[in-house]
Amino acid sequence: MKYEREDLVEKLFNHGYIKTEKVKKAMLQVPREEFMPPETRPYAYFDRPLPIGKGQTISAPHMVAIIVEKLDLTQGMNILEIGTGFGYNAAVVAEIVGEEGHVYTVERIPSLAETARENLKNTGYFNQVTVIVGDGTLGYPDKAPYDRIYGTASAPKIPEPLKKQLKIGGWLIIPQGSRDYFQELVSVLRISHDDYKVQNLGGVAFVPMIGEHGWPED
Ligand code: SAM
Repeated sequence: MKYEREDLVEKLFNHGYIKTEKVKKAMLQVPREEFMPPETRPYAYFDRPLPIGKGQTISAPHMVAIIVEKLDLTQGMNILEIGTGFGYNAAVVAEIVGEEGHVYTVERIPSLAETARENLKNTGYFNQVTVIVGDGTLGYPDKAPYDRIYGTASAPKIPEPLKKQLKIGGWLIIPQGSRDYFQELVSVLRISHDDYKVQNLGGVAFVPMIGEHGWPED
């Protein structure tokens, strides 16, 4: 599926979702089809979210590109992701932060986390990505502070624990707003111990982030 991948990455570049060489290289490198259930693999290079089971999705490639570009990653960074799914976005981030960096990713549904671990093992990212089962709205204090934190599910408001786990000068990116698909992507820069700068990055549609600082379970 290498040619389909090249084609999609070219389109994402031409439409302005991919802006930098590092993101282009990472998305060319990571095989999205390996992070999907077998029945949806033929659609791996359609630019759309697809079901991964348990009512969850693998994010659309253009959304992965938008988030990863906004993170402005460099080698060696310490990263926290909330919402592992099947592990695709974490692998793209791992490609950029490299072997000196690390991605910690929290998933609340144990079976998805287990499949993500297998996918990351099969594609060679297992040493760079640690999958944790738990409520990501609490962050992952064990490995804080983080250079960057990002959420791939939407919270009613920015979870306070995530802000506190940022390095000074680091930022987080998270969808925030209504539970059902009308949200804004926001970035929160930690300026000093107690000061943050919040910026709206535009409209998005994500599944809900469920947890203590997120939405209640149905
Ligand atoms: N990062 C994924 C990818 O690469 O395609 C996208 C995953 S999907 C859009 C969002 C994920 O967030 C789901 O797997 C869902 O179970 C998870 N999630 C929702 N609330 C969560 C929480 N509080 N902590 C951790 N994961 C959560």
